[in-house]
Amino acid sequence: MGKIVVVGSSNTDMVVKTPRFPEPGETILGGDFFMFPGGKGANQAVAAARVGGEVSFICSLGDDIFGKNSLDGYTKEKINTSSVLVTANTPSGVALITVNASGENEIVVASGANALLSEEHLESASGMLNQATMVLTQLETPMATVEFLAQRCRETGIPLIINPAPAQKLTDETLKGLYLITPNETETRILTGIDPSEEGGAEKASAYLLEKGVQNVIITLGKRGAYFHNAEKQFLSKPPVVMAVDTTAAGDVFNGVLTVCLSQNKSWEESIAFANKAAALSVTRMGAQASAPYLDEIN
Ligand code: ATP
Repeated sequence: MGKIVVVGSSNTDMVVKTPRFPEPGETILGGDFFMFPGGKGANQAVAAARVGGEVSFICSLGDDIFGKNSLDGYTKEKINTSSVLVTANTPSGVALITVNASGENEIVVASGANALLSEEHLESASGMLNQATMVLTQLETPMATVEFLAQRCRETGIPLIINPAPAQKLTDETLKGLYLITPNETETRILTGIDPSEEGGAEKASAYLLEKGVQNVIITLGKRGAYFHNAEKQFLSKPPVVMAVDTTAAGDVFNGVLTVCLSQNKSWEESIAFANKAAALSVTRMGAQASAPYLDEIN
């Protein structure tokens, strides 16, 4: 069984349903209020743990009620939290989400403690990082920390997977020698300037990233599945056809589950097919972490 280290964000999503969005300066009465655990790092760590991964999560929380709730949640999911950074007098990350009657949303994220996930903290967790079979990260923590992690993994030879979400450019240095990158369609456009939804676009965009020195590329294409490309082969893997209810965190489930399969030495074909199945199952259910499936459900 491989050891997986997820480095990333932890947030609490606060959602209010409302008939319409307020105008600037206006107060309106909304409907139901919900609070969910979120953050791409946390979602991916939970998705990996639910399919049997041995997962450690490195994130940064404040010493407040949200941080405590998040930590309790990770412990219940059997995630190792021994390298979680908790800082006094700092708010944990929150996302304020308003959903209108048409299902559109407006989201404001206050990164809070996530912004404190520093190179120094990763340095202090180097014992855990050095023992990892595979490391998985995203772009909701400071870019300098992501770049440091990429450099550290390159030096130690530990395979690093970057899910480049939310969409941002990465330096050539970060891409060089990277084990795997997993952009969705929008992220692919930002990273390469090539639209993967056009005829031959996924092949061209992944070839661009391979030329930058990335070893393996997977472009996720929503219900069309995932496109794999490396020096030896390229193929499209399709998910099962499902009735989509809520696609929130589909990409997070895909990445968490994929990392577990790869850390168990499964082939690219098998790993991507299984991650597609897990992500397709997650879009049939509401919520982010709540929709991440367990191993027996996928089987
Ligand atoms: P999100 O931002 O909604 O979390 P994403 O934009 O990061 O997702 P997508 O490329 O939309 O990522 O989807 C990731 C994976 O989820 C796909 O590769 C596929 O396996 C699965 N998926 C997404 N939408 C569907 C769908 N409608 N039907 C089946 N599978 C889906």
